[in-house]
Amino acid sequence: MRRIYDAIVVGSGPGGGSAAFFLGRAGLRVLVLERERLPRAKPCGGMLSARLLQQLPPSLEGVVENEVEAVTYAFGQQRVHVPLAGRRMVSVRRERFDASLLSQARAEVRDATPVRAVRQVGNHFEVETDDGPFSAAYLIGADGANSVVSRSLGLRRNPPRAVAIEAEIQAPPHIAAAYRQAPLFAFGDLPYGYLWVFPKGDHLSVGVGQFRRGSVADGHTHLPTVLERALANHGLSLNGAKVRGWPLPIYDPAQPLGAGRALLVGDAARLVDPFDGEGIRFAIKSGRLAAQAVIAGKPEDYPNAVRQSIAGSHRHGESLMRLFYRFPRACWLLGVRNPSATHAFADCLEDRIGHGTVMFRLAATLPWHLVRLALGQG
Ligand SMILES: Cc1cc2nc3c(=O)[nH]c(=O)nc-3n(C[C@H](O)[C@H](O)[C@H](O)COP(=O)(O)OP(=O)(O)OC[C@H]3O[C@@H](n4cnc5c(N)ncnc54)[C@H](O)[C@@H]3O)c2cc1C
Repeated sequence: MRRIYDAIVVGSGPGGGSAAFFLGRAGLRVLVLERERLPRAKPCGGMLSARLLQQLPPSLEGVVENEVEAVTYAFGQQRVHVPLAGRRMVSVRRERFDASLLSQARAEVRDATPVRAVRQVGNHFEVETDDGPFSAAYLIGADGANSVVSRSLGLRRNPPRAVAIEAEIQAPPHIAAAYRQAPLFAFGDLPYGYLWVFPKGDHLSVGVGQFRRGSVADGHTHLPTVLERALANHGLSLNGAKVRGWPLPIYDPAQPLGAGRALLVGDAARLVDPFDGEGIRFAIKSGRLAAQAVIAGKPEDYPNAVRQSIAGSHRHGESLMRLFYRFPRACWLLGVRNPSATHAFADCLEDRIGHGTVMFRLAATLPWHLVRLALGQG
């Protein structure tokens, strides 16, 4: 028996969940195929802007583990505490967040069903699984960093070379309490990357990510050693906690976003922010854009929509990343210690502005910030 749908979504992370939610809401017959048994935990800091949740089904508010209104940045021994001035960040457990988003989607979900290959046959797609073939007019590849959809359709260009590792640790109550008020981003422990300490329920999510293409594969850095050393600088330790790594598919302009009626979203489309490694927002956003293009019957509009609302900012983010990690001391002094710049970055995390505007605001407020520094107020 051939099983036929309007759209098949491969993968049920935030990208697939978002695409399935918006497609199902428009009344399309949607099948989600997921490799893992659900709920599935992915190595992830799970930190995102609270504003993102407002654009999604209201039930997602229920999966928030922690909410913060300030962040701490560190560079060596120096620390800056930055109130977010009304903006809020939240942390989520991915297994709960992803499951909650998917449960809102009007879609048939088959977990523990890895997609083996996909191929286009005439005007529909055949999707091969161990349970037999499924077929649909539209295909959404939301199957993450090692996307089978992307590879099967010959869309994969450069495999991701950046990586991040994460562990969940327990910390003494007085130390954990500080991170529940303000998560930490610490620079200077590794080239082209940072350490994070985020609150996650009664644990802390700790990890390091390194964003520059090729820097890890070149063998310059053993990330678990870097993580242990960096944590020690902040009075924390892995204490034997399990460390998990995962590729970080940093934005690559050479990566095609689809072909015909097959569209790639999230990590499968390599849409992770080159400046800070954030990916949940862009998975959700691209999932929605792909769904909108399918609903309108205009899949050819999707790459342009991504270019306009994601890629433009990412291009500037890449420049910012190169500048920041090439001249970390200067950027710390002139950027991180400039409140206008850190507030601009918070606006960027809230998806109100892109990295281009962050750079503009940084440059525009530089003279004023230099005066503050000269007066010893910075
Ligand atoms: C250590 C680490 C920490 C991070 N921290 C943050 C953070 O704090 N904030 C943030 O915004 N981003 C963070 N990111 C990035 C973020 O995790 C990803 O960008 C995000 O998960 C992308 O979502 P996605 O839906 O595209 O892919 P995924 O979440 O990877 O989902 C892909 C899904 O497809 C399924 N799948 C794969 N292959 C198949 C197949 N053949 N058949 C069927 N299903 C398949 C997988 O099982 C999975 O469920 C972090 C990344 C890492 C590695």
